[in-house]
Amino acid sequence: MIENVILITIDSLRAGHLGCYGYYKKITPKLDELAENGIIFTHAFSNGPQTTASFPSILTSTYPLMYEMSKQHLSKYRIMIQHLSKHRIMISEVLREAGYSTAGVNCNVHISSYYGYNRDFEYFRDFFEDYSRMPTQKVIKFGNRAKVLISIMEKKINKVFSDSSIIYKSIRRFYSEIWGRTQEKKFLESIVKLKNINAAVINKEAISWLKNKENNKFFLWIHYMDVHFPYLPSSKYINYNKREVISLNRKIIKHCIKGNRADISESELKQIIKLYDVEIGYVDNSVALFLDEVEKLGLLSNTLIIITADHGDEFLEHGDTFHFQKLYDELLHVPLIFYAPELGEKKVIDDLVSLLDLSPTILDILGIEKPKKWLGESLLPLIKGDKRRTNNAVTSEVSCSNCKRKISYRMKKWKLIWDEERDFYELYDLEKDSKEIKNIAEEKPDIVKYLSSKIKEHVSMEDKTRRQAEEKKITGMLEKLKTGGGI
Ligand SMILES: [Zn+2]
Repeated sequence: MIENVILITIDSLRAGHLGCYGYYKKITPKLDELAENGIIFTHAFSNGPQTTASFPSILTSTYPLMYEMSKQHLSKYRIMIQHLSKHRIMISEVLREAGYSTAGVNCNVHISSYYGYNRDFEYFRDFFEDYSRMPTQKVIKFGNRAKVLISIMEKKINKVFSDSSIIYKSIRRFYSEIWGRTQEKKFLESIVKLKNINAAVINKEAISWLKNKENNKFFLWIHYMDVHFPYLPSSKYINYNKREVISLNRKIIKHCIKGNRADISESELKQIIKLYDVEIGYVDNSVALFLDEVEKLGLLSNTLIIITADHGDEFLEHGDTFHFQKLYDELLHVPLIFYAPELGEKKVIDDLVSLLDLSPTILDILGIEKPKKWLGESLLPLIKGDKRRTNNAVTSEVSCSNCKRKISYRMKKWKLIWDEERDFYELYDLEKDSKEIKNIAEEKPDIVKYLSSKIKEHVSMEDKTRRQAEEKKITGMLEKLKTGGGI
């Protein structure tokens, strides 16, 4: 009988780089073995392309923008930042109420206690204090100060020289260059610190908790950051020198800073992908080592192991590296593997599913009713082979600048992406164009009409939920005022 659950999430791991998802290199023997002996979902998709746009669905089975719209962005890096709304019900909350010990171990600042992800975990370790408080926030602060300085200088120079003069342009370029370089250096320094907390450290923490926990039944969530940019594999696993590795990472950072396509040659791109793959190999090995320890503790036979990722990474498929606010499959197609001897026969399931379904599935397997607020459907009937999915579509979204969204509605054959800011549609025929290159929205108005009506339904559902949450908040504040309490 399955009594416990270990959820392993791997940041930025795109499905296409695993052997069990058809990758030409064999770099993931352990994950392939789990898939081979367990349940693999070949068409699992994230509900958002970034950590903050994805984790609300993984842990609360609700859409990323249902209760809050990210007002804060790391604009230069085009990353959505969001505190987890209290209206969302975390899986840790449900399981804790059901008598489970709950623990979370991760080192991604966006899903740290600072952003509310420690809620209802009895034990939560996010290494927050280890990397000198919010590296990303430090970069923003530093960046803003530098920007102000540059604009003051520009105004002063502009008083003397006209906009179009060569001297003004040269001075401006000079300042932008300094700004870019210093920001790049700070960014790299802060993120390298974060990479020190590798999978081995996460494993150590998690195993130590497993050894010392009091309750028998448990839910453990661990999150690895090794595959996340920057790709800095240890020299033990790759014969590049440190300088080469840093220089390749700098290429990507330059792109992040400048916001346009990096000047990355084909051979450099190959090397960057190699670094990414080596990081994947390291994580695969870390999963193996971790599960060996779990087995030694006698916990493997009655524990469900789930492997997934919050999103993928782009390697210039659509002009970018990293994972920005885009909704193409290289960012949304994620691995989803369930492994437990008790789950029955091994199986390959090709129904379209999303990470919204993950938490409801866990509860279903444990025999616990899911909260009404959760929107995902349990995958257990698919695992048991009882039935196919009726709603074979996945909605994904991300908040962009000015609280405007990008939303995609994906079926097996069609995918429509709506850019709210430009009110622009992209339609792809995934059977003929799996790389999403040719936008055929104008050629297929009927398909656009049908799929956009689905997106509109989604938008009005989200807007309504957000409005209600806001009203509730105001009512609560008024009540407090009436009763004489402070706000
Ligand atoms: Zn992430």
